[in-house]
Amino acid sequence: MSALMNRDTIPHFIAGEKQDTSSGRYADVYNPALGVPVARVALASVEEVDQAVAAAANAFPSWANTPPLTRARVLFRYLQLLQEHADRFAEMLTREHGKTFADAQGEVARGIEVVEFACGIPHLLKGEFSDQIARSIDACSFRQPLGVVAGITPFNFPAMVPMWMFPVALACGNTFVLKPSERDPSPSILHAELLKQAGLPDGVFNVVQGDKTAVDALLDHPQVQAISFVGSTPIAEYIYTRGSANGKRVQALGGAKNHMVVMPDAEMEMAVDALIGAAYGSAGERCMAISVAVAVGGAADELVAALAEKTRALKINDGMAAGAEMGPVVSLAAKQRIEKLIGQGVEQGADLVVDGRGHKVAGRENGFFIGGTLFDRVTPEMTIYQEEIFGPVLCVVRVPDIASAVQLINQHEYGNGVAIFTRDGGVAREFVRQIQVGMVGVNVPLPVPMAFHSFGGWKRSLFGDHHVYGPEGVRFYTRTKAVMQRWPDSAKGHGSAGAEFAFPQMK
Ligand code: NAD
Repeated sequence: MSALMNRDTIPHFIAGEKQDTSSGRYADVYNPALGVPVARVALASVEEVDQAVAAAANAFPSWANTPPLTRARVLFRYLQLLQEHADRFAEMLTREHGKTFADAQGEVARGIEVVEFACGIPHLLKGEFSDQIARSIDACSFRQPLGVVAGITPFNFPAMVPMWMFPVALACGNTFVLKPSERDPSPSILHAELLKQAGLPDGVFNVVQGDKTAVDALLDHPQVQAISFVGSTPIAEYIYTRGSANGKRVQALGGAKNHMVVMPDAEMEMAVDALIGAAYGSAGERCMAISVAVAVGGAADELVAALAEKTRALKINDGMAAGAEMGPVVSLAAKQRIEKLIGQGVEQGADLVVDGRGHKVAGRENGFFIGGTLFDRVTPEMTIYQEEIFGPVLCVVRVPDIASAVQLINQHEYGNGVAIFTRDGGVAREFVRQIQVGMVGVNVPLPVPMAFHSFGGWKRSLFGDHHVYGPEGVRFYTRTKAVMQRWPDSAKGHGSAGAEFAFPQMK
């Protein structure tokens, strides 16, 4: 580590070492509850990305050759370290992201589940074998790692989203370069340190901190075989287009506008609590947050009245404060963007039932807080309906029947998550079958798949063919090799029957 490195600089991690940047470029990292910078993060140059990719490329042959069980044992040790250090991660998340400490603990726990899944890699990498596909010929197929793969991750789950990627990639035998969000970069370095402590060889996992310069360098680097991206839709589309044009395998998960349908027969208290948690948890900065409640038929009046009461009662505070239910949003720019969108909602004629603009928290007057905001009578033409707000803003849209709800949701450009609250199994079943969305909850507001399934949206919420983690993650980070083999058998006297010029046919 450079002796000159500032104590509060969040560095790169390349070939097993922390490294300050030679680019001379840094970005401030804020504590959003205080509204002040608490550290600065290095911003990589193209040369530093080259160094990280070179470290990963050097480490690849030996790591790919390491037996899967041995790789899994490194992950087992890392798993134990993660459990020991879970609250350190959670504190970092609250400090740099702003989410409440309890929610941050939940984020770490969901990430750990992917490591638990990846520990089973010897089973997951098992191939297929066919005996005697022709006389004296057997065939098998198995999966091999790709090489150097990269992950580019968003601010909203700085510990968990990288863990959607690298545990599976590493377990499969790849080496990894992570480019985390520059807004909350500290967890990336703790991951690197714990992996090293667990016995991961140097260069297998590297971190380059940075911005567009680092991202573009990864997208264009000829030795990077695959890119996993999670972030907003315009950037996801850009990553997919540029990465694929460069011949890489790309999975790019984008933004969302998740709807929750409330049928008139829904268990109303359950639906209201689900909406409050799913709309305002993590200040709405979740890709699976519910941002639209679709009230069907007679459900609307009761629903809006109950939502308004609970929205006004939200306990908003520094995420480390006891009892806080919602913290600040991540940055001043995010606060200004969200408050501007609320203004547009009013201008375009939605009913602003609860206005969270200008919310102040005593003792945290400079924090980037917004109160819970509730709109009623939102219509599909409004900007607040069309755009991902990514803040604590819930829009209620009133529709006459379930068919209109399905049509509304299917016409939206995003298709990440959706939920329906009803007591009618037939309605729920038909909804599940017809809805054009990747992850569906029935009386479950945030249907985030467990680590042994896979996560991914449809439409403009995902560019690429593979969902992340779970079985799809294993497929993404490996490619299949099909092998046919025959052996001369001296006992049977099999020799060559001469050259064959016609395509062989089974006899
Ligand atoms: P973002 O798109 O601004 O940034 C994501 C990553 O891309 C960061 O590492 C950032 O440094 C990089 N980046 C930003 N601008 C870039 C550019 N012009 N060129 C190259 N790289 C660039 O997203 P964010 O604000 O950090 O995260 C919030 C977004 O992520 C929301 O839209 C949310 O829905 C989405 N998200 C989606 C999922 C999902 O699973 N679909 C999960 C989490 C977050």
